[in-house]
Amino acid sequence: MLKNIFLNIKFYIQKLFTSKYKIEGKCNQCGECCKNIVFMIDDEYIKTEKQFEDLKKFDKKYKHFDINGKNEKGVLLFKCKSLDENNRCKDYKFRSLYCRAYPFVTDKIRLGGCETFDTCGYKIVKDKDFKSFLK
Ligand code: SF4
Ligand code: SF4
Repeated sequence: MLKNIFLNIKFYIQKLFTSKYKIEGKCNQCGECCKNIVFMIDDEYIKTEKQFEDLKKFDKKYKHFDINGKNEKGVLLFKCKSLDENNRCKDYKFRSLYCRAYPFVTDKIRLGGCETFDTCGYKIVKDKDFKSFLK
């Protein structure tokens, strides 16, 4: 019990002093974030059409996406049906919170190396570099 409290305090102190991330730049409407979406089922990225069919049965909102390819790890990439041919969102005013938040830095993005798409106008930058921790 006491050990758990100590570990929790240690966790929050470390989190407080760890490097923070901030987002710089602005959207240039390249559309990449709407064409390269990944989905998860049971904590695993969707890799097969069968998994995608299961996901659509589970929740109809996934019918709003088409398979758009695969990444180098075999994870399926999806394109949103609201994206028009000029990379504009047809549902901009009513887009989801996920769309509004992109590229908000979540733990998963952090673990993935904190990178946006090459063409994206946003960049995720650290407020402290590694060397500053060694001083
Ligand atoms: S709703 Fe709009 S912003 Fe969101 S993924 Fe689809 S096209 Fe992109
Ligand atoms: S990838 Fe970046 S620049 Fe391109 S549409 Fe998405 S937010 Fe905008």
